[in-house]
Amino acid sequence: MNNPYASTLINLDSFKHIRRTTTGDGFCVLTFDRPDSSANVFDRATLAELDRHLDLIEQDAALKGLVLTSAKKNIFIAGADLHSLANASLSEISSLIEFGQKVFNRLAALPVPTVAAIHGAAMGGGCELALACDWRVASIERETKIGLPETQLGLLPAWGGSTRLPRLVGLPKALSLILSGKTLAGLPALRCGLVDAIAPKEQLLETALRQAARGKSHRRAPWYLNNWFVADLLDLKLYRDLKRRTHGHYPAVFKALEVVLESVSSTEAESFAAEREAFLELAQGEASHNLVRLFLQTEHAKKSPGADVLPVRRTAVIGAGVMGAGIAQWFAARGLPVVLRDIGPEQVGRGLATIAKLFGEGQKRRAFTATEVRAGLDRVQPATGEVSLANVDFVVEAAVEKMELKKHIFQRLADETGPNTILATNTSALSITDLAAATRAPERVVGFHFFNPVHRMQLVEVVVGRQTRPEVVQRAMQFARQIGKLPVRVADRPGFLVNRVLMPYLVEAGRLFEEGARVEDIDAAMLEFGMPMGPLRLVDEVGVDVAQHVARTLADAFGDRIPVPKVLGSMIEKGALGRKTGTGFYAYKGKHIAPNLTVHDFQTTFEAGWFTRQELQWRMALMMLNEAARCVEERVVDTPGEADFAMVMGAGFAPFRGGPLRYTDHVGAEFIVAEMDRLVGLGLKRFAPCELLRRMAASGEKFYRKEEEHDQHAKRTA
Ligand code: NAD
Repeated sequence: MNNPYASTLINLDSFKHIRRTTTGDGFCVLTFDRPDSSANVFDRATLAELDRHLDLIEQDAALKGLVLTSAKKNIFIAGADLHSLANASLSEISSLIEFGQKVFNRLAALPVPTVAAIHGAAMGGGCELALACDWRVASIERETKIGLPETQLGLLPAWGGSTRLPRLVGLPKALSLILSGKTLAGLPALRCGLVDAIAPKEQLLETALRQAARGKSHRRAPWYLNNWFVADLLDLKLYRDLKRRTHGHYPAVFKALEVVLESVSSTEAESFAAEREAFLELAQGEASHNLVRLFLQTEHAKKSPGADVLPVRRTAVIGAGVMGAGIAQWFAARGLPVVLRDIGPEQVGRGLATIAKLFGEGQKRRAFTATEVRAGLDRVQPATGEVSLANVDFVVEAAVEKMELKKHIFQRLADETGPNTILATNTSALSITDLAAATRAPERVVGFHFFNPVHRMQLVEVVVGRQTRPEVVQRAMQFARQIGKLPVRVADRPGFLVNRVLMPYLVEAGRLFEEGARVEDIDAAMLEFGMPMGPLRLVDEVGVDVAQHVARTLADAFGDRIPVPKVLGSMIEKGALGRKTGTGFYAYKGKHIAPNLTVHDFQTTFEAGWFTRQELQWRMALMMLNEAARCVEERVVDTPGEADFAMVMGAGFAPFRGGPLRYTDHVGAEFIVAEMDRLVGLGLKRFAPCELLRRMAASGEKFYRKEEEHDQHAKRTA
């Protein structure tokens, strides 16, 4: 950072996480700079250090003001250290919350003006630190993101954030930020009143020091935003909205709503106490436990194991359809030149139009500037015929899901590319090993399975064929991280992991429909379970024909266990392929979507309504739990944690439940096996539990045994 006061900075002490310097004209600058890390986080040690700095600052009568800033490239303070939080006992958490509040309250009570100079992420505790200052100044750069995402982790801001934010910006905006967990960049934060000034990062410190020179701030949200009348109105509206959106599964948003609404008619001290109490209650719940673990798993998936692999600089995508165009756009947006190849100009043209549309939508969302869109589009090189792929490091094939066609493409790819080019396929369910057998270089073939839509779904399954070289797998994993995706390594088994677990669930939805359940009841049951979309809506989105194709692949592999529902074939015959044809399980007219009544002709019985929602939910959920357990049994993934992570990230499995296996642990394998046996007893053989579940039911074993023991230990020592 270009610091105009650099020549007058005097280093007074050497602390580990926070440096204190003083400018020639009497302003103190505290710079957060956690050693050996690209991020600043708040753990007990950092808080204690800040506390000691405050001791010295309080004693310095000559001091004119204080600026808090960060030395990190794109992080101000990322929030509380979730690793230590996840491993802490209840009493440790309680003491950490209390200590954080105490330190931030000391900062807020300083007699000198205080300013947070924010460049990069100021999340959770980082934002709460800033809220305890008189002023906040943010950089205009894209890296700057300010917010309180605690509710997304099943928690709530408890280092003063739930109390100070409504006092600063008023109840409506504070609740919008806290309940959504959304972050704001510099300019929107200024508009919202969350920050007081913005500046380019080079001028941030200078601007902050100027702001400090203005004295203490007395800015408060106007009374007409923070009173019991507004609180009652918001309570009425938001409670209902939250109930509808979350089906009551996310206790944190309801607790946050309660605490924030009450905060405006309480004293600060009362509100801090309410924050603390609510946080401790939430921290003991299943939802926060699962959401924090998923967050840590995501961080883990982003991290490179440090392997020294050849980087990917140039790419090619074969097939410019839905997936190919989406993948090419993603590569180009990440700065990679990409050759986009299809069989003719019409197909390539359609692909280019999709790419332009995706960039355009991204620009509207402010994910790209106009210059970035132009540069991104320039990186796409359309190709209808043969173009040299010799210099390409990574080719991904996304042509139609037909083995013979894919084999034909792969036969030629080995000759068209260099000796180190990775030959990847985006196939949904075909065997990588069989496909690789068609090439001269099977050791370079790997599955690289994106999910639809590519720009929204973070997961990529990296599928290891029998002959795939370990180094190719490592490079593919690293490449996924390079382009901002979350890779999970899976074995080359039919359907890999996500489709394999999802398909029996979709099939069961189809079977329930055939047996007389109504489309809307089936979907509502799973929305209530916590899935982002009902299974029959999902079949419509994926395409009834595509769903049938994947179901057949799995049926071929697993026989009776995953029987393809007849209804899919009947719908295909009538041209009801789902959203793309305007009819499927639903009828689509513009934005209007309603159950397609004609589809009921395909039911084998008309005794609608004899399933309770609970029964519908249970039957569909059990299929996923059993299949996920089978995947662990067959080592499709290495650990239950990876299976759960992939199901949440790739299929939206109810995140608060932590994934199918975590949910199995929660309910208990014994109960699940008993339920499945009950269904088998009714003649539904496909519900037969896998051997692993049976063993676990008999022995009391759990998928997350160790972690559970740790939790119990933590509770015992609390
Ligand atoms: P699509 O039908 O939209 O596109 C396929 C494209 O491949 C077409 O443009 C076609 O012209 C082109 N093509 C056919 N033969 C070709 C050849 N010899 N050389 C180059 N291009 C050729 O299909 P899609 O939905 O994009 O699926 C592509 C692949 O991705 C399939 O393997 C599918 O299983 C997989 N997949 C699809 C989804 C999804 O939701 N659609 C999700 C994950 C993976």
